[in-house]
Amino acid sequence: MCRQISDGCVSRGCGHYIQTTVVAIADCQSSQCRLSSSHSPSCRAPHCRCNQTYGPDIERTTNTKPGLCDQCQVSRMQHGLQA
Ligand SMILES: [Zn+2]
Ligand SMILES: [Zn+2]
Ligand SMILES: [Zn+2]
Repeated sequence: MCRQISDGCVSRGCGHYIQTTVVAIADCQSSQCRLSSSHSPSCRAPHCRCNQTYGPDIERTTNTKPGLCDQCQVSRMQHGLQA
């Protein structure tokens, strides 16, 4: 399964990694993977049952920031509104 190599920022308040840039794609070279350049050109939707999702990112932390990531901030706000 192919993976995205990404640069990202880690929020120190929650430790979450947020992808900012996809730097490159690590191609798995599998003919069974639709994302790979090795995927068979004759294998197409709707018959293609090959993998079409990326594996976990290969994360490169280029930055850290204080506080929570956006998602944690939003969920905290929603929680606050419901309370
Ligand atoms: Zn792949
Ligand atoms: Zn396929
Ligand atoms: Zn977070």
